Amino acid sequence: MNENRKNNFVREAIDKDLELNKNDGRVHTRFPPEPNGYLHIGHAKAILLNYGIARDYNGKFNLRFDDTNPCKEEQKYVDAIIKDVKWLGADWEDRLFYASDYFEKMYECAENLIKKGKAYVCDLSLEEVRQYRGSISEPGKESPSRGRDASENLELFRKMRAGDFTDGEKTLRARIDMRHPNLLMRDPIMYRIMHAEHHRTGRDWCIYPMYDWAHGLEDSFEGITHSICSLEFETHRELYDWFLEELGVFHPRQIEFARLNLSHTVLSKRKLLELVEKGLVEGWDDPRMPTLSGLRRRGYTPRSISKFCDSIGVAKMNSIIEINVLENSIREELNVAADRVMAVLDPVKVVITNYPEGESENIRAVNNPEDDSRGYRDIPFSRELYIERADFMEDPPRKFFRLSPGKEVRLRYAYFIKCEKAVKDETTGQIKEIHCVYDPETRGGDSPDGRKVKGTIHWVDAKTCVENEVRIYGNLFTERDPQDLEEGEDFTKHLSPDSVRVIERCKMEPCLRQALPGYRYQFERTGYFFVDPEKSRHDAPVFNRIVPLRDTWGKIKGR
Ligand code: ATP
Ligand code: MG
Repeated sequence: MNENRKNNFVREAIDKDLELNKNDGRVHTRFPPEPNGYLHIGHAKAILLNYGIARDYNGKFNLRFDDTNPCKEEQKYVDAIIKDVKWLGADWEDRLFYASDYFEKMYECAENLIKKGKAYVCDLSLEEVRQYRGSISEPGKESPSRGRDASENLELFRKMRAGDFTDGEKTLRARIDMRHPNLLMRDPIMYRIMHAEHHRTGRDWCIYPMYDWAHGLEDSFEGITHSICSLEFETHRELYDWFLEELGVFHPRQIEFARLNLSHTVLSKRKLLELVEKGLVEGWDDPRMPTLSGLRRRGYTPRSISKFCDSIGVAKMNSIIEINVLENSIREELNVAADRVMAVLDPVKVVITNYPEGESENIRAVNNPEDDSRGYRDIPFSRELYIERADFMEDPPRKFFRLSPGKEVRLRYAYFIKCEKAVKDETTGQIKEIHCVYDPETRGGDSPDGRKVKGTIHWVDAKTCVENEVRIYGNLFTERDPQDLEEGEDFTKHLSPDSVRVIERCKMEPCLRQALPGYRYQFERTGYFFVDPEKSRHDAPVFNRIVPLRDTWGKIKGR
């Protein structure tokens, strides 16, 4: 087994089954998405858990579309899900399945249950079925159809399939126990009538299986040994087991784990769909979305997501993981992998008054201090530069170590400069230019006389810099748990009004003129950025900030 992997209770359960030589020592898992939306990071947890187990136990992993509800499912979601699972690196080899391919087999199983007297066609409407179910404190009431004999049920069920009834006119129900303490066991519906077009089977069917009936069968047909699902299915397990037991077919073991919840976002396809449909985000792959397509466009790597999922582990209790745990996973990776460059998001001009006009020079800069093999690059330097507006204060507090009148700082890789004065716009009072002098003896960022400066700031050369669009993202929601709502409240009210800030003309080193889509950089002191493959055009890269640095205005080590 991969020793980097933490053990968890799911793996412990599998170890026990293997000790008992259950399933002849086979391990076979699956990921069973319903193609009714794009996958989110919660699904990544489920995918990587299932796939990781199959891989580590020399088992198998299936990708299976649980496409049993034609009203909400679409081919475009199937395509997007396949792309995302591949991107994460989970390999189903040649085992891509569709529940809809089993409709005929499921139908046969249903007839078997009818013949055994374990299922009946019910005339109650869906609303009546609900009313008859009772509650936790009250037993349910039996349907008047419950006493039908098997042959009549069989005939009616065949008519249901043949299209003789309208939507909702009849259902097929399991005959279990209307007084069962588990409400799901009170004669649950197995089939409902829906005259709807299915994205794969077209009009072949007008009866569709319900989740609880279909899911166990899908697992059983595929020889799944461990059906790993999220905690909300715990109460469904009894029914899962009942169906398989009554049919006497191969019986996988269902194991539940806590779903992933992330702070400041929502992990529910229904809610994410609402954001997309109402136009509150740009689409499923908006870089603010917790979808895998959104995270991919933001700049996350499959590896960082997999690291994240490993680090949070697998539990039996629901909790909310802070979003910065996810952010740290990509920081760690890019700290080593991303080349450093300089870009100024909110520029103010610096004029070095003692630097000769019309001259310029190249400054050598390290591409990646964590990786010598990345080498060096030359950055132009001349009399006029840009620095961040926030790196200058006219009247600074005591602990401000950046630029202010009379103070000296280091320009990253270049020289010490000392501020002489700030020139303001007469009407607005805004600072237009900062006048400084440089010390030619400090080239490379060190003073031969041993003089120290406390601050190092980044810069770009005014004449040669390029201007590109940058997008700075914040949390999509202002609340830690946007789903914690009063009755009748709408979760979209917690959407953050400034979750994206577009900087159209961010000033950057000339080497970023042709930054290629899909590349990642660290902009010194401001964060990790990704060249957006969707938004970028030739010679006009658009940079998404993936995450800020851990400490945005953190001090730079070295020169
Ligand atoms: P959503 O609530 O987002 O619509 P879902 O459970 O309806 O998700 P499915 O397509 O049915 O979506 O999910 C496929 C698998 O992914 C299921 O086994 C489900 O348990 C798992 N899953 C869904 N959301 C999460 C989550 N947040 N964390 C872990 N696993 C999840
Ligand atoms: Mg579901």
